[in-house]
Amino acid sequence: MAVYVEERLCKGCALCVHFCPKDVLNLSEKRNEKGYNIVEVGYPEKCTYCELCEMNCPDFALFVIDERAERKTAKRAKGAK
Ligand code: SF4
Ligand code: SF4
Repeated sequence: MAVYVEERLCKGCALCVHFCPKDVLNLSEKRNEKGYNIVEVGYPEKCTYCELCEMNCPDFALFVIDERAERKTAKRAKGAK
């Protein structure tokens, strides 16, 4: 599992930072192409994958990804078992 930020879509509103119960996220100094400060996953080890950040992002810029499921899906697509 991992939290992924699509930097191009983030507008730096910090709603995800506010809703994260574990203080995993923070607004960084880095700006995207639109000039917004973007969120970074500062403390991934503290994440419980509750998905509150994803549910509260109004711009669908942040995702909780299950990499194991992704790998299984990729294998199935290739026809492997
Ligand atoms: S999944 Fe939950 S704990 Fe992890 S960054 Fe998002 S809100 Fe925080
Ligand atoms: S809620 Fe979405 S748009 Fe707002 S700072 Fe977080 S990732 Fe960026």
